[in-house]
Amino acid sequence: MLNKNYEILCKLNLTQNNITVNDVIRAVNYELKNVAVQIIGRTIDNIQDGILDRFLGIRWNELVNKIVPWICPHCHERSSFVRRGRRPRKLKTSEGIIEFSLYQVTCKSCRKTFSPFPQLLGLKPRTRISTEFEEKIVKLALGNSYDKTSKYIEEFTATTISHTASRNITLRVSDNVSINHDISEFDSILIDGTKVKSGTKERGSEIHLALAPVKSIDKYGRKYNEKKILAFSIGKVDKKFKSQLSKYSCDNVIVDGDSSYSNLIKDLFSEATHRRCIWHIPRQVSHLLYMYKVPVKDREVFLSALIGILKNKDFYKAINEYFDFIQMFERLQFYDIVGFLKNAMSGIFHDKEDWNNNKKHSSNSLIEREMREINRRTDIGCRWSDEGVYKIVKLLEVNRHAMHNLDLYFKQNRRPIINLLQVSLCSK
Ligand SMILES: [Zn+2]
Repeated sequence: MLNKNYEILCKLNLTQNNITVNDVIRAVNYELKNVAVQIIGRTIDNIQDGILDRFLGIRWNELVNKIVPWICPHCHERSSFVRRGRRPRKLKTSEGIIEFSLYQVTCKSCRKTFSPFPQLLGLKPRTRISTEFEEKIVKLALGNSYDKTSKYIEEFTATTISHTASRNITLRVSDNVSINHDISEFDSILIDGTKVKSGTKERGSEIHLALAPVKSIDKYGRKYNEKKILAFSIGKVDKKFKSQLSKYSCDNVIVDGDSSYSNLIKDLFSEATHRRCIWHIPRQVSHLLYMYKVPVKDREVFLSALIGILKNKDFYKAINEYFDFIQMFERLQFYDIVGFLKNAMSGIFHDKEDWNNNKKHSSNSLIEREMREINRRTDIGCRWSDEGVYKIVKLLEVNRHAMHNLDLYFKQNRRPIINLLQVSLCSK
């Protein structure tokens, strides 16, 4: 392809007094942004012109029957095309709005006219926004309300975007990324739920999340657990959640005691050890004590006894004390607590060796941290729809724990920048 040279004319007006460093920075930024936008537009035009010259020949000297790098979308013709004008196109980018043309060709076989360039130039069909800009918006929207996202874009890029547009872009990306992994066997899978402010119910909607810790790595001197997101749903534990989760197997599965989870894990992971989250148990008992109107002070006594039992290093002693604990509530006629503790037993006590295995995952604390992140994002902005919240949480989790899928979606942004352009300053 031909090389092109552009000349940039830079005129300095130094007749004014009191010019500050800041004035220079702002003036250069402002002026060069416009030049950048123009260079991008012209370069895109030139690339298309170059391709057409190479495969169709230059005007009045056309090449005949040369195989071209595109196919006619109507009749699959591969070699006979003629140039047919150009159509203006605008693309919103973080550098501003780029104006360029899409060059068209007419297929000699079927006489239809089209532009082969959206595909050749990596322009997604119907999008009016560049992939690099799209990613910036999405990254901002994951941590901020759509409204704030638009404000940041306006402040830090050369363009603007409405909050509805940032929302639509973010949700579209969410639709197009998957949460899948190529690993299918895990040591432990953690399942838990939380309420988010969405939908029509006063207290919001329930979301369910299944995660698997894979390894702990040291980051900045702190232990950090790398996790994989496995399944995610909003509302009831549904078929989709189940089918997402059915792709995986594990040795241990940890739940908080929610009956919908117990049935799910019985079906899906019948061979795994079913564990109850040790962190949740005292909290759930505390809630039941509150329902029996037990004063806070007394509740604390019961809870510290329970925590003591769960921490007892001696497996048999711990079981005996647990039984005594149940009997105490029987005497008090707190039957809901008796039922709860009996039900939880099989998820707490497995065998002596297991009891003293400090390496196992015995709580859902890792997933709790995830829930806090989710609530942090879903608490801001106006009231969510279930669909909107589903999509943002999905994207949030993919960004945190299935990054490879986001890399795949934004693969254009991950390509190394080839040696396309050299700009140097030659002063005269
Ligand atoms: Zn054709």
